[in-house]
Amino acid sequence: IIGMDGVNKWFGQFHVLKDINLHVARGERIVICGPSGSGKSTMIRCINRLEEHQKGSIVVNGVELSNDVKAVENIRREVGMVFQHFNLFPHLTVLENLTLAPLWVHKVPRRQAEATAMSYLERVRIPDQAKKYPGQLSGGQQQRVAIARSLCTNPKVMLFDEPTSALDPEMIKEVLDVMIELAETGMTMLCVTHEMGFARTVADRVIFMDQGEIVEENVPEEFFLNPQNERTRAFLGQIL
Ligand code: ATP
Ligand code: MG
Repeated sequence: IIGMDGVNKWFGQFHVLKDINLHVARGERIVICGPSGSGKSTMIRCINRLEEHQKGSIVVNGVELSNDVKAVENIRREVGMVFQHFNLFPHLTVLENLTLAPLWVHKVPRRQAEATAMSYLERVRIPDQAKKYPGQLSGGQQQRVAIARSLCTNPKVMLFDEPTSALDPEMIKEVLDVMIELAETGMTMLCVTHEMGFARTVADRVIFMDQGEIVEENVPEEFFLNPQNERTRAFLGQIL
């Protein structure tokens, strides 16, 4: 469902992504880890064209990413994204945050948009928070709202960029549990995270990035027990 071939990107003179090759099949769960500044966020942001690559090709759900606005619109519809900072609209209630895109972008009737929103709030276990504003929720609840909001547009792929790293420890689990359940539904997921327990539980493959390159890629058991690359070993030594 995602194919990245020979993808390169520069920020000015800085070569941030170097010959990235990554192929993700429908239903696969990929965890991406690596040191700060290694290009993890930039790589996943290229997949829904929040960032533009300069060389190589990215194909999502059969559509090649280019400057074609229609193609980008199509891909944004297929790809949901959850960020470290929840990026909810503070002046809208939880329910309004969830129905905004369905109502105004996808032209779904209000009654249906609200019913869908409530069903996703139930899935992330906070239907009782629908009428509150984001500022009245805990960090973990806000992140679950952000996940539910993404799911409301019925994406085929979900991208997560360190969804738990801004949370207090006691809230991390409630968000990871929601992500694990989502994985069990067969959702295709790419997750940038350093939650190695999550990686062990749900990942089909773990990818290690350093200095703009995919340095190592393996099934979790091998990745953690038997890392091949010196840089992977050094990184795991620091975080485990
Ligand atoms: P972290 O773990 O800290 O989130 P990361 O692996 O996600 O790091 P990126 O955010 O992809 O790293 O950034 C990779 C490199 O590109 C960093 O050196 C960063 O400073 C640089 N960079 C990111 N965005 C821009 C930008 N808009 N303009 C210039 N340089 C940028
Ligand atoms: Mg990042």
